[in-house]
Amino acid sequence: RRAVDAVAEDRTVGQQGMSFLRLVKPLAVVEDNVFLAVAEDYTKNYVETTLRGPVTEALSEVIGRDIRIAVTVDASVRPSASSSPETDDAPPPQMRRPEPVPSTVIEDPHLNPRYTFDTFVIGSSNRFAHAAALAVAESPGKTYNPLFIYGGSGLGKTHLLHAIGHYTRHLKPQTRVRYVNSEEFTNDFINSIRDDRSLSFKRQYREVDVLLIDDIQFLQGKEQTLEEFFHTFNALHNAGKHVVITSDVSPRNLDGIEERMRTRFEWGLMTDVQPPDLETRIAILRKKAAADAVQAPSDVLEYIASNITSNIRELEGALIRVTAFAALNRQPVDLSLAQVVLKDLISDDDSEITASMIIGKTAEYFGITLEELTGTSRSRVYVTARQIAMYLCRQLTDLSLPKIGEHFGGKDHTTVMYAVKKVEDQIAQRRQMYNQVNEIHARIKQSRA
Ligand code: ADP
Ligand code: MG
Repeated sequence: RRAVDAVAEDRTVGQQGMSFLRLVKPLAVVEDNVFLAVAEDYTKNYVETTLRGPVTEALSEVIGRDIRIAVTVDASVRPSASSSPETDDAPPPQMRRPEPVPSTVIEDPHLNPRYTFDTFVIGSSNRFAHAAALAVAESPGKTYNPLFIYGGSGLGKTHLLHAIGHYTRHLKPQTRVRYVNSEEFTNDFINSIRDDRSLSFKRQYREVDVLLIDDIQFLQGKEQTLEEFFHTFNALHNAGKHVVITSDVSPRNLDGIEERMRTRFEWGLMTDVQPPDLETRIAILRKKAAADAVQAPSDVLEYIASNITSNIRELEGALIRVTAFAALNRQPVDLSLAQVVLKDLISDDDSEITASMIIGKTAEYFGITLEELTGTSRSRVYVTARQIAMYLCRQLTDLSLPKIGEHFGGKDHTTVMYAVKKVEDQIAQRRQMYNQVNEIHARIKQSRA
């Protein structure tokens, strides 16, 4: 509260800044970091760029030492209570989407300082997109124009877009770069018509060397804005300026956008970003922990990385939740704490299937004991049950072949490999095998619910 008041006194923040500030919820102070949560990307970006200075200063003042802020997106965050009367309830819609500030193109490219190539972890899921982004940053206007990056939410599209902006300006400080979210572009366009400012609008988006436009899918079905964007795009492209576009779907799947426009998007280079693999997820968490200077042991990072698999934003959010919770309760960050804190985040469906669960359910299905299943008897039914259980361990857990062998009374990894192969072959050939494996799998899943 005291920091908010301090920020309010900062004249540079203004009405818009204050309405954004009300959307921020403080989470915790961990050493020199203050963790803040907001409900939307859009807000996070604003807080991390425009508000970073005043907020950092005000918080440092209140806390009594130099701090850094770390902002996480958490959809469940409600605006924090404030002393001003109009925010007793949720802010009115126009406050949640404050009007964009007037043009300051060259001085302020609207880039988030955290989103650079240095902080971007490369893996097989994003290697190509990263390389393309780097190539554009190195010689804007030359190759891959436009560059179109698409992929699911939280996979690094916005990060890459900002990284292009930073690096371009690092290499050539005179380059005029402008980052804009499509939503902001739309608001800006509508306001420019209302206020009779179409000239300044055009200047803002056409007198640049690199236009970075985020989440173009937002323009779907918005005819007038699309038309304006189309002209902007053509003007820039004809002048040899670079346009980089992101979208949550490929150009082909952009409904509500005319064919002539979609074709234009495909002129340059299209590349997607995929969900990261386990190694990349762990590497991202390591980097994040280091950047925020928080201590988190490897098993905690691995736990988070193995359970949150499809969205990097959620991955980072989980780490922040764990470290913030630990700091608040003055507890060390360890695995058991992480499990408790993230319980509701990691849904039952994703909870781990263990070898013992598989062995138990398979034995039950065949009406034999655990000893019989994991033993050495070569009777037919035991062998079948054993092989199916080994096969399911391979399919449903992350265990290595030798580790699986250990669960079956210390069998050799080649035995496990043989079993997996055998069941695989039989599933394809014999209906009965297929049905048995499916049924056991279903029972394992059910037993977790
Ligand atoms: P998108 O725009 O695709 O929804 P963002 O670019 O906003 O995703 O990424 C979500 C969060 O994950 C951001 O905080 C971003 O810094 C982080 N992030 C995404 N990809 C990477 C990566 N490869 N390395 C490090 N951080 C990443
Ligand atoms: Mg984004």
